[in-house]
Amino acid sequence: MPHAASPPPCMAAPPIERDAADVSALVSCPAPPHPAFAADGGAALRRLIRQLPKAELHLHIEGTLEVDLMFKLAARNGVALPYADAAAARAARASYAGLQDFLDVYNACTAVLLTEDDFFELADAYLARAAADNVLTAEMFVDVQGHMARGVPLDAIASGLLRAAAASPVDASFILCIQRELGPAAASEALKAARPYVPSAFIGLGLAGAEVGNMPSEYEAVFAEAEEMGLHKMAHAGEEGGARYVWEAIRALRVERVDHGIRALEDPQLVAAMAAARLPITLCPLSNLRLQVYAGELEARVREVLASGIAHCYVDGNYEWVARVAGLGPEQLAQLAAASFEASFLPKERKKAHVAAVWGAFDAWRAEEGQPHRPAARGHPH
Ligand SMILES: [Zn+2]
Repeated sequence: MPHAASPPPCMAAPPIERDAADVSALVSCPAPPHPAFAADGGAALRRLIRQLPKAELHLHIEGTLEVDLMFKLAARNGVALPYADAAAARAARASYAGLQDFLDVYNACTAVLLTEDDFFELADAYLARAAADNVLTAEMFVDVQGHMARGVPLDAIASGLLRAAAASPVDASFILCIQRELGPAAASEALKAARPYVPSAFIGLGLAGAEVGNMPSEYEAVFAEAEEMGLHKMAHAGEEGGARYVWEAIRALRVERVDHGIRALEDPQLVAAMAAARLPITLCPLSNLRLQVYAGELEARVREVLASGIAHCYVDGNYEWVARVAGLGPEQLAQLAAASFEASFLPKERKKAHVAAVWGAFDAWRAEEGQPHRPAARGHPH
């Protein structure tokens, strides 16, 4: 397996500090919230978002590693970090000068992950934050190729992650995330290595990394093998690449979800096909903002997705940003949270229970806030 600098787990999921100030800066969108949230400057909006049960469907577990834990693991494992202190690391992670800059930060962060305990602490820390945010389900990507290239045994990765999942109230599962830069042969090799851990540790196969020039169809055989193994299938497509990358992910890889997928909008036939099939996309507009994808057009594109009929879902601060950009009201936000469960790989009955919990939380929020009772549509927001 190549030992070159690890590719990014996802161009749209850089390590991000989740402290309030940072997220606030990211969501400092000029748009005022919907009139239902206007009274207290958006605090009621944030309360609703926090209280709504949610499913997290687009998260790269490596991207959740926070600076303090990174320094702790570096000290424990004797790994030298390229930062003098936590402040310098935070500064490096606050903005990226370009892809290489992002790669340098990603590599520095992941270099500290070496043992089962490291993977346990990584996932445990994220899942604690997720539980506090009322995330009930998290389906998380794992860059197994990158970790194995550093000599980490797959058994240590799987055992650490599973131990964290078992200790968490969040219904956590993991997805093998193949990096396109490494090519189909390496992908097949990783999938074969992971076979003993399917389905105990991994429920799906995802495809990420630099998109342009790496057509999804190159991975047709790998995805066919994953299907035969009973894995769910998804791919990052339509992030940097155009609509034909999304078409290929659907037709050649038979994906059940498209990550990002925003450039599907460029082909009306594709939009119609995805809406008819209720094939969901997972948007990450805040990450797009940080990496300056669709510069100047992102707000319009997100509004277009909401109007397109394509099923969609968001996580973290994305809810607030999208709510402000699109002027979403309380019911529409609850519909988005419900849609996140619909797009998950949970069994049908569990989905139903979580969707019911969304509307229960919505009713509770409305009663607490003294919001007028209006019959909500309670369907998907399109
Ligand atoms: Zn991603």
